[in-house]
Amino acid sequence: MLGALTDKDSDMTTLHLAGFPRIGAKRELKQLLEDFWQGQIDEAALQQGARTLRQRHWLLQKGAGIQLSPVGDFSLYDHVLDAQILVGAIPARFGFDPARLDSAQYFQLARGNSRQPALEMTKWFDTNYHYLVPEWQADTAFSANPAPLLAQLAEAQALGIQAKPVVIGPLTLLWLGKCKGGDFDRLQLLPDLLACYEQILQQLAAAGVSWVQLNEPILALDLPADWLAAFAPAYQQLAASSPLQLLLATYFGSVARHAALLHSLPVAGLHLDLVRAPEQLAHFMQQWPDDKVLSAGAVDGRNVWRSDLSALLAQLEPVAAQLGERLWLAPSCSLLHSPFDLAAETEMDADIRSWLAFAVQRLNELKLLQRGLEQGRASISNELQSSDHVQAQRRSSPLIHRPAVQQRLASLPAGADQRPLPFARRIALQQAGLKLPLLPTTTIGSFPQTASIRSARAAFKRGELDAAAYEQAMQEEIALAIRRQEALGLDVLVHGEAERNDMVEYFGEQLEGFAFTRLGWVQSYGSRCVKPPIIVGDVARPQPMTVRWAVYAQSLSTRPVKGMLTGPVTMLQWSFVRNDVPRSTVCRQIALALNEEVLDLENSGIRIIQIDEPAIREGLPLQQAQQAAYLQWAGEAFRLCSWRIDDSTQIHTHMCYSEFGDILPQIAALDADVITIETSRSDMALLQDFAEFRYPNDIGPGVYDIHSPRVPAEAEMAALLDKALQVIPAERLWVNPDCGLKTRGWPEVEAALGNMVSVAKRLRQQL
Ligand code: GLN
Ligand code: ZN
Repeated sequence: MLGALTDKDSDMTTLHLAGFPRIGAKRELKQLLEDFWQGQIDEAALQQGARTLRQRHWLLQKGAGIQLSPVGDFSLYDHVLDAQILVGAIPARFGFDPARLDSAQYFQLARGNSRQPALEMTKWFDTNYHYLVPEWQADTAFSANPAPLLAQLAEAQALGIQAKPVVIGPLTLLWLGKCKGGDFDRLQLLPDLLACYEQILQQLAAAGVSWVQLNEPILALDLPADWLAAFAPAYQQLAASSPLQLLLATYFGSVARHAALLHSLPVAGLHLDLVRAPEQLAHFMQQWPDDKVLSAGAVDGRNVWRSDLSALLAQLEPVAAQLGERLWLAPSCSLLHSPFDLAAETEMDADIRSWLAFAVQRLNELKLLQRGLEQGRASISNELQSSDHVQAQRRSSPLIHRPAVQQRLASLPAGADQRPLPFARRIALQQAGLKLPLLPTTTIGSFPQTASIRSARAAFKRGELDAAAYEQAMQEEIALAIRRQEALGLDVLVHGEAERNDMVEYFGEQLEGFAFTRLGWVQSYGSRCVKPPIIVGDVARPQPMTVRWAVYAQSLSTRPVKGMLTGPVTMLQWSFVRNDVPRSTVCRQIALALNEEVLDLENSGIRIIQIDEPAIREGLPLQQAQQAAYLQWAGEAFRLCSWRIDDSTQIHTHMCYSEFGDILPQIAALDADVITIETSRSDMALLQDFAEFRYPNDIGPGVYDIHSPRVPAEAEMAALLDKALQVIPAERLWVNPDCGLKTRGWPEVEAALGNMVSVAKRLRQQL
C-alpha cells in the first residue's frame, strides 16, 4: 500500500526529489528567457525549449535511478509565482485572468509593466533564491487552476516517469504573502485556500498520481501559535479530500519541537532535512508512527560537499531496519539550490573536485545509499572505499589546513575587536585630520561598469590583453572616475571599482582557501544566476589585494579617497562554505585576512576605509534561538577587520536591501564610524528606526535610488535630507546614494550626483 511504485520490489527504499536545477546544465533556461524577452524567439519556441529541458532533466533522473521525480518544480520564472497562479490568486491590480494567462502576462507579473510594478521579490528563507511575494487582500478569492501543472504531469507520464507533483503547502504559501490594502490576518484566507487545494488534489488524483508532496518549510520557523494550530485541521481536511498520499516536506531547519504534531498529522509521509538538522532524526525515531513514510533528506541540496557515505549509512541503517520500505531517501531540500553537474568543472584542482558533489552527483549518492541499505555495505564496497578515502584526504589536505592561520586565530588577544577610543573621541581625531564639511558627500563605491571596462576585462581573460596593459586600462578608468568626482565636487572620493568583476569573487580570487567553478551557477531569480565561490580551506591573504588601486586613486587627488573592501560576513554569505569547521571560524579567518588589508591601506596613506556588509541581515538564522549567537560572531568578525588600526582612520560600512528594525543594537555594536544605508525607496522610514534607537555614530541615509536610471530632482533629495535632519543631528549626517552605481550609465550618474552635491552645499549654508 505504501510503496509508491508497482514496478519494483516492495521492500525497497524509494529515491525521490523535491526539485532539480531547472536552469539547466548550461543555463539553457536563462538563454531561452532572455531570447524571448528580447523578441528573438516566440512563445511556441519558449514553451518548446522549456519542455525539452524538463524532459532532459526527468530522463536524467530516471537514468540515475530516481523512482519518484518531481513535477511542478520547473518554472519559467519562479515556482512561488506558479503556486499563486495554481490557486488562481494573482493581484487584481494587473487585471489578468489566472486561468488564461499567456507568457507575456506571466512575465509582467514577475517583471512589471508600464502600469504596474512587478510583484515584490524577497529571499526564499535563508537561501539566495528570490521568490515573488504573494499579495493577499481581505477579499482575495481562490480558484483551482491546475491546468499548467497537469500539462507538465502529462509530459512526465508520457515519458514513462513516475511523477510526484511538488506543491507549496497552503500554510507556507499563505505565510509567504504580504497583506495589502488594510490590516487583516491572512490566516483568515485559509478556509478558502484549503477548498482550492482540495480541488487541485482531486484533479491530480484523477490524473493518475499516487503521491503529492506539499512543502511546508515554515515549520522550521518560530511560528505563532495560531499558525501552528492550523496545521492539524488543514491537513485533516486535505487528507480526507482525495485518495492521494501526501508527503509533507520540511527543510532548512529542525522541526523536532513539532514532532508530536507531525506524527499525528494524517499524512502518508514526512520529509526531514537531515543535513541542516541531523539531530532531529533520533528525536523523531523515538516514536515513528507505523503508518508513515520517513523521507530522509540525507544528502545536501544546498551545499557542494560530497557526502560521507559511511557516516550516512551508519546513521540510516538502524532506520532502514526499523522502517523497511517506509524509509525514503532524498536530498535535504530541492536541488534548485545546487549547481548542476560537477563534470563540467574540468579546470578545477583534482583534489578539490573530488571533495564536491553537485545536483547530478547527488543522484548517484542517493543510489549508492539505497544499494548500501538494501544489499549491505559489501555491495558498494568500492564506492565506500573511495568515499572514505576522499573524506580522509580532504581532512588532512594542505589545501585546507594552514596552521599559521589557525594559530593566529587561536592567539588573538582579548579585545582585538574593540577600537581603543570610543566613537566620540575617534570622530574628533578623524575630523581634525580629514577636515570635511558638514553633510559630507560621498558614493558607495562602484561607478558604471562601462563597455570599455568590460571589454578590457574580457580581453585580459582571453589573454589578448597582457597584465600590464590591463592594469593601465584600469588605471585610466580610475583616473576618469576621480576627475569626474572632483568636477562634481564630492567630498570623499572612491576609486570606482572598475577592476572588480563581483564584490565577493574579486576578493576570493586573491585569497587562499577559495575555489571557483566554471559553470557552478545557481538560480537567484528569473534568468539571473549567481556563481558562488567555494570556501574550501583556511583563508589567508598572500599579498595586498586593493592597495595599489587605492594608492593610485589617492595619488590623483588631495581629497580623501575611501578604500573599499567586502566584509567577512558578506563573503561568507555569498559563498559555498566549508562544512568541516563552524561558519564563525571561517568568518573570523576572512576578517583577519581583511585586517591585514586594512592595515596595509592605512600604512599607504588611505584614511577612510569602507567595509561593505550588505548581507549581514540576510545571514540571520531562521530560528530566534540561534540569532543572538550569529549576531555576536558576525559583529565580532566585522570589528576584527579594524584590529590595530589607528583611531584617526575612519571606518565606513554599507548595507542595503535590509530591514534593520530588530537588529539595530547589533548594527550599532559594529561601531563603524560611518554607516551608509539604503533608505530612499522607503522614504527615510528606515532612518526613523535609527533615530528612535538613538544610533550613536555617523550615518548616511541614501538620498536616491540607484536601481533606476531616473535622475532625481534636487527638490526630491532636499526633501529626503530635510526628513533626515529632523531625526539625525547635522554633525552626524552624510549625503550619498543608496548603493553602488555600477549598473548605471555615466550621464545619469553625473546628473544625479551633481544634484546631490548642490543640495548638500545649499543645506550646509542654511545650517
Ligand atoms: N561597494 C559596493 C558597490 O558600490 C557595494 C555593493 C553593495 O552594497 N551591494 O558596488
Ligand atoms: Zn548596497
